[in-house]
Amino acid sequence: MLQPNNAWNLILSHTVHLPTTRQDLRESLGFVLAEDVRADRDIPPSHHSSMDGYAVRSSDVTNGPCSLRLIGEIAAGSSSRPRVGAGACARILTGANVPPGADSVVPVEETEESNGYVKVLSAVKRGANVLTQGQDARKGVTLLHKGTVMGASEIGVCATVGKATIQVHDRPRIALLCTGAELRGIEAPVRRHELRDSNGPTLAATLSHWGFRDITRQIVPDRVNRLVSVIRQKGRQCDVILLTGGMSVGKYDVVREAIEKAGATVYVHGVAMKPGKPFLFATLPGDRFIFGLPGNPLSALTAFHEFVLPALRRLSGMAPKASRPSLRLPLAAPLTSKGELVRFILGRLRWEESGPSVTAVASQSSADLVSALKADGAIVFPADVREMKSGDLVEFRPWRTLP
Ligand code: AMP
Ligand code: MG
Repeated sequence: MLQPNNAWNLILSHTVHLPTTRQDLRESLGFVLAEDVRADRDIPPSHHSSMDGYAVRSSDVTNGPCSLRLIGEIAAGSSSRPRVGAGACARILTGANVPPGADSVVPVEETEESNGYVKVLSAVKRGANVLTQGQDARKGVTLLHKGTVMGASEIGVCATVGKATIQVHDRPRIALLCTGAELRGIEAPVRRHELRDSNGPTLAATLSHWGFRDITRQIVPDRVNRLVSVIRQKGRQCDVILLTGGMSVGKYDVVREAIEKAGATVYVHGVAMKPGKPFLFATLPGDRFIFGLPGNPLSALTAFHEFVLPALRRLSGMAPKASRPSLRLPLAAPLTSKGELVRFILGRLRWEESGPSVTAVASQSSADLVSALKADGAIVFPADVREMKSGDLVEFRPWRTLP
C-alpha cells in the first residue's frame, strides 16, 4: 500500500495548474498570481514628510534652538513647492512632499510658532522625518512573483502600483457527491436506519473557507449506473469531482467501479494511513480530477486535508510545498501508537507563553465528528514510531486558519 507522501507525489505528478484569467483586483483575495507585479514608479514616489511639522534646512538647526521665517504651507495632496532658503521654513503636514531647499522636518511638538516665525526648540539631523523617494522600492523592481497567493497586503501592493486587474489562475469548479443509501439531507425526516449527511456541509464549508466557492452538491445513492451518469455529467461541468462514502470493499462500495465505468483512470486507491485508508485519486480525460473519500466523517476530513485541499491549491496555481503546509510543534503530552499505518490524531493547539504546542484530542472512532469540534488539525504519527514524548517535535497538519 502507498505511503501518504508517495500518494501525494503521485497526485502532484498528475495535477496541473488550471488556465489563467484576468481578475478584478478587488475580487482577487485567495487567487494565485500568474504574472509578476512590478513597481510602476518609485515607492514612495517623492520625498515626503512622516510628521506634521516644519520643513527646514538641517544646516540651519544643527546647533539647537533657532528662529526661522515661515514662508508657506504644504498639505498632503498639495502640489505647492515653496522654496525653503537659508533661515526659512515651511509648514508641512504628514504625507506632503518636502519642498525644494528643505531636507528635514521638525515635528510640530518641538516648535513654537508666532507672528510668522517658528522657533525650533531642538537640533534636527539631516533627513529627519523624511521618507525618501524610492526607499521602499525602486521603479521596475518585482514586488510580487508568480505563484504568490493574494492576501490583504498583496492586494494593497497591487493597488499601490496601479494594477486594477491581475492575471491569476482559475480556481477549480467542484462537484461534491456524497454517496450512501442511508443519507438524508438536513431537513428531511430521518428514521432509525438513516443518517443525516454531515460530510456534504462540512466539506462544502471547508472548501468555501479556503476560497473554493464554485461548488455543486448532491447526495447520490450507491447504485453503479446512477453514479456513472452523475460522474459523467459532473465531469463535463466541473474540474474536480469529490466523492464521499462507498470507497471500501463492502458489497455496496461501488464508487470505484462507477468511476472506472465512467472512463476514469485510477492512480491511488488505498493509502497506508489511519483514518483515511480507502482514499482514491483518479483522472478523467480532459484534465478532470476525481477524489474519493471514505464516508466516516473523521476519515473523510483527514484524507481531505491530507490530499484534496493540497491538490485543489495546486490546481489553483500554488507551488507543491505551499499547497500542503505543515508545522513542526512540540507535543504537550506523550503519545503512543501500535504502528503499521501512519496515524493521524486529532490535535489541539495550546498557546502558552513559551510558544505553541499541540496536544491530542481523544476521539471515539473515525465517525466521531463531535471530537473534531475541539481539534485544530491532525498530528502525524509516523508508522515506524511507537512512542512520542512530551516536548518531541511532531508534524502537525493544520485544519483551520491559525490565529
Ligand atoms: P462508507 O464509507 O460508505 O462505508 O461509510 C462509512 C460510514 O460513514 C457509514 O456509517 C456511513 O453511514 C457514514 N457516512 C457515509 N457518508 C456520510 C455522510 N455524507 N455524512 C455522514 N456520515 C456518512
Ligand atoms: Mg456507504
